Amino acid sequence: MLRTLEERDIRFVRLWFTDILGTLKSVSVAPAELEAAFEEGIGFDGSAIEGFARVYESDMIAMPDPTTFQVFPFEGGTSGESARMFCDILLPDGSPSWADPRHVLRRALSRAADSGFTFYTHPEIEFYLFEDAPADGRMPVPVDDGGYFDHTTHSVARDFRRQAVLALERIGISVEFSHHEVAPGQQEIDLRYADALATADNIMTFRHVVKEVALSHGVRASFMPKPFTDQPGSGMHTHLSLFEGERNAFHDPGAEMKLSKVARSFIAGLLTHAREYTAVTDQWVNSYKRLFPAPLSDERITEAPAYVCWGHLNRSALVRVPAYGKPNSARVEIRSPDSACNPYLSFAVLLGAGLRGIEAGYELPPGAEDDVWSLSGAERRAMGYDPLPQNLSEAIDAMAGSELVAEVLGEHVFDFFLRNKRAEWEAYRRQVTPYERQRYLGAL
Ligand code: GLN
Ligand code: MG
Ligand code: MG
Ligand code: MG
Repeated sequence: MLRTLEERDIRFVRLWFTDILGTLKSVSVAPAELEAAFEEGIGFDGSAIEGFARVYESDMIAMPDPTTFQVFPFEGGTSGESARMFCDILLPDGSPSWADPRHVLRRALSRAADSGFTFYTHPEIEFYLFEDAPADGRMPVPVDDGGYFDHTTHSVARDFRRQAVLALERIGISVEFSHHEVAPGQQEIDLRYADALATADNIMTFRHVVKEVALSHGVRASFMPKPFTDQPGSGMHTHLSLFEGERNAFHDPGAEMKLSKVARSFIAGLLTHAREYTAVTDQWVNSYKRLFPAPLSDERITEAPAYVCWGHLNRSALVRVPAYGKPNSARVEIRSPDSACNPYLSFAVLLGAGLRGIEAGYELPPGAEDDVWSLSGAERRAMGYDPLPQNLSEAIDAMAGSELVAEVLGEHVFDFFLRNKRAEWEAYRRQVTPYERQRYLGAL
């Protein structure tokens, strides 16, 4: 590593970590400091990071994880190349910090490992490209008026996707698909599956790279869950699978849909605890404007889940079981997470819910055959499909009562998260919106 830095004349090594709400944090060190950083870590004031520490116990240490060392060849210009590493956060006594989302995921993964499982994830990340990013609440302008899979010749979006994918590949993040999404300016890039910790790191890197590449095209990328009332939101559908050694534990050639008993209980866990973990996978006031069942227009629906059910190939369900060819491709797709979630915490709660299903031997209810959005409320109740939380407040309440989510996140993250999200909801609840003025000002 030190040789690479010297040979390529790299002057900055960025040490990255993530706060509880999923914001990327970065501190640059000179290569000369790196050896010391590996021995002692880099000290910082944890109380200044969202959710990390109280003022009286604020000293924390960022310890670089050498397996994540990566040169960023495209940050050229006058500053030269840079490199980055993700860090684990430690307390002064060297023990892992419970406030570190990476540690929360590591702990969930080692739980799975105790039962012989490795957890793989494959996210489909949707986002918008805008001409601008007005900070005052005005509508942003999408860069094009393309639609699903449109081949928009000579558009910013096409050049952008090309360059973003090349940039990601150059830093070792494999991309499986990329295409224009349904809404004007909306894009999707799907990462290849990898173990969940690597994927979460890759998602953090992805957001950074995509924003940088957008800026270099003079446009802005946004991962906001639902920028427009009448256009689809940006989801982060995630495909999940468990492996036992080399073998995909979700695959059983003799079973219905080739779904093993492990897979069925895992899905049952995802469904049973869905209302409890949604505050984590959909963590903003705005996230719940996306998880909405109604049509956007006569022909178009939002394609985001709103009810707790699963289905084979059913895109209106919360959990979809895609058709697959090779045994190792067996997986389930969870469709509720959005592109503005904290990937470490989200993967931890999803894994926790699935494992609980396996350990407790949950039975999978029958799959949903119909388009769940078009059923009446009474029909859905008869089928036993609960609604997902309809707003952040409901999601917080469901999470607050969850022994499972408390255990997976640990007391510190659980308490901080609930407090922070309650404050967000209260701030939002007081707002009088343009919608209300349009509707009531003249009428009442
Ligand atoms: N944008 C939709 C969502 O919010 C998904 C659309 C799709 O990929 N089918 O989940
Ligand atoms: Mg997709
Ligand atoms: Mg999509
Ligand atoms: Mg999908």
